[in-house]
Amino acid sequence: MLCGSKLRAALSTHLRRHSSAFSLPLRRFSSTATATATMASNHHPKDESYLNQVIPKRIQLFQSIQAKLLTERLSLSSDPIKITLPDGTVKEGKKWVTSPLDVAREISKSLAANALISEVNGVLWDMSRPLESDCQLKLFTFESDEGRDTFWHSSAHILGQSLEQEYGCKLCIGPCTTRGEGFYYDAFYGDLGLNDDHFKKIESGAMKAVTEKQPFERIEVSRDEALDMFSDNNFKIEIIKDLPADKTITVYRCGPLVDLCRGPHIPNTSFVKALACLKASSAYWRGNKDRESLQRVYGISYPDQKRLKVDSFKASS
Ligand SMILES: [Zn+2]
Repeated sequence: MLCGSKLRAALSTHLRRHSSAFSLPLRRFSSTATATATMASNHHPKDESYLNQVIPKRIQLFQSIQAKLLTERLSLSSDPIKITLPDGTVKEGKKWVTSPLDVAREISKSLAANALISEVNGVLWDMSRPLESDCQLKLFTFESDEGRDTFWHSSAHILGQSLEQEYGCKLCIGPCTTRGEGFYYDAFYGDLGLNDDHFKKIESGAMKAVTEKQPFERIEVSRDEALDMFSDNNFKIEIIKDLPADKTITVYRCGPLVDLCRGPHIPNTSFVKALACLKASSAYWRGNKDRESLQRVYGISYPDQKRLKVDSFKASS
């Protein structure tokens, strides 16, 4: 299996040649990748005060709001609802209780293990989010645009978690790429410039998040709660202030990362079986050269290892 700089060279060539997401080689988490990195991060110690104060504060606020919302939900009536599947099958469920994951489990173990995201009455919906009324339900795996985009966007949170924990950087935005495959996360690092030498540590932090099987948890927050939660990140504050007044603001947590995001996401981090950083580059906040200079880290990820073995062989040959 290729790894390190050789792997990345193969990836780069491969990315130029192929548009399919299914043929990219990359290092598995379990591989014994060699470190070609000089630990440049030693010269840029992480912002410990940011990590020690801001991260626990956000988690505490998240948990407090989550507990309040759960109490409210438990007081709502769990009336029967009808859940209609694409083939016309109707399943019985309970309002505010039954989730798309419950329905997937009822259909088959395999579907429950592979469904990444659902669509409820035309709205993309987390697998664990309770249904709120009679609905039309669709379930998506990685073999769909909806599933892949959600998978890669969720992988950006895993990458963001690693970046924040490693450098104490201020996270900005982390979307899936709209053309091609994969995802990236933009963040503000002060004067630190990231390059390939940083990737091993970043991937190692992502592996930790995956190993912990962190659930993606969702809460809805008021504008004031959002402003309080992200008061230490001026980029997120700017995004919140620009949201329309009637916009429902949502925040997601996976492990130590609490992030402003509309979602939805995959059920938990363990669905990601392989993740690699591809490239680091500079970007301006909001694409404006008069604004802050950010670092952008691109990544790719997969939900299975079978594909990787085939791809690694192709890459080595
Ligand atoms: Zn997100």
